[in-house]
Amino acid sequence: MKRVGIFGSTGSIGCSTLDVLERHPTRFRVEVLVAHGRVEALFDQIRRFRPAVVGLVDSSRREALLSRLAELPAAERPELVVGQREADALAGGENLDVVVAAIVGTAGLQSTWNALHAGKRVLLANKESLVAAGDLMMDVARRSGAELLPIDSEHNAIFQCLPMGSGERCTDPAEVESIVLTASGGPFRDWPAKRFPAITPEQACAHPNWSMGRKISVDSATMMNKGLEVIEAARLFRIDADRIEVVVHPESVIHSMVRFVDGSVLAELGEPDMRTPIAHALAWPDRLDSGVRPLDFHALNGLHFERPDFARFPALRLAFDALRAGGAAPLVINAANEVAVAAFLDGRLTFTGIPAAIEASLEAMTAADRVAVPESIDAVLALDAEVRAWTLDWCRSARMTTAGG
Ligand code: NAD
Ligand code: MG
Repeated sequence: MKRVGIFGSTGSIGCSTLDVLERHPTRFRVEVLVAHGRVEALFDQIRRFRPAVVGLVDSSRREALLSRLAELPAAERPELVVGQREADALAGGENLDVVVAAIVGTAGLQSTWNALHAGKRVLLANKESLVAAGDLMMDVARRSGAELLPIDSEHNAIFQCLPMGSGERCTDPAEVESIVLTASGGPFRDWPAKRFPAITPEQACAHPNWSMGRKISVDSATMMNKGLEVIEAARLFRIDADRIEVVVHPESVIHSMVRFVDGSVLAELGEPDMRTPIAHALAWPDRLDSGVRPLDFHALNGLHFERPDFARFPALRLAFDALRAGGAAPLVINAANEVAVAAFLDGRLTFTGIPAAIEASLEAMTAADRVAVPESIDAVLALDAEVRAWTLDWCRSARMTTAGG
């Protein structure tokens, strides 16, 4: 029986994970649930899964949760831990075998780090951890013996297609020519650039193939999500930017591919449903029923492929630039993106203001010589806070002018 902790349990990935776990009550036990502040959703999960410990990050919601927990018989009430640091600490607890890192954004860094440091099997959805602190995360995982398994669908697909090298996935250029990340292209794939400034948050969050949280939905719409995934892949599979291809594939049936030197290309296909990569990483190296319906080839209307358009989607180009620049440049674009996306969702920034904010932040941090790679998680979080503050100011002034506001 594996004991599982889900960090970000009330989100899209958290709920998909619980759906898979519910099918296998004899193999997994939900030991820990952590959420930010959605008490009703969290309480519903507590009733269904009876975790031993619950982490609530937003302390202002404590009383609301306590009053709901009082409805349960005393013996069924979980231990309640309140606060960010306290909830993050649960990820390293001895009561867990598996940690699902499903918090959105930089808020997920510390718990991911704690789980890797403690040598857990970590199912990584929080790509921001690898973008902002990739080398640190990979190093700590190697030292502790943690199993870092990607559940981002592209990286999970590549993980499945890559051969096994000495203890880890092999991207040796003698064997692997390149990895090919597929991208749906998002809701504005075929929109003309002139319509982009008027795009609303509702339009940006209506993804054609995947149902996801609002931040990653906007990232998909700007194609920053693919940019973050290029960096995530570079860190996970130790491969440089020149050997990472991006192909737009609107059907999202091929989740990604590996191109070998002999001309073979291996792909992983399936329904676009996150329960497949989640079940894969839960059971690896075994296989587990995920509840995902089988792919029906006869219902497909063909598979299509296009080149990404770096002119309409500059965020993707900026991510490649940041990966090539190295140092803290990926951290900078990740932090700037998060602030810009929040401003866009709040109606404080236009859609085209998002890549503009990222580019301005990267230029400013480079000019200020703030792009040396931070050497600890604390230093990562400090630089992240600095970039956020700078980008927030930029978004405020962009609003006054027409440039990005
Ligand atoms: P979401 O917005 O649906 O859920 C986010 C979760 O994080 C919620 O449970 C929320 O309570 C929790 N959270 C937010 N701030 C927190 C904090 N400070 N401390 C603790 N918990 C906090 O997001 P999502 O779509 O599930 O995405 C989660 C992560 O997975 C993101 O990094 C995203 O890029 C990645 N991812 C998501 C998908 C997908 O299909 N949704 C696919 C691939 C990767
Ligand atoms: Mg993905």
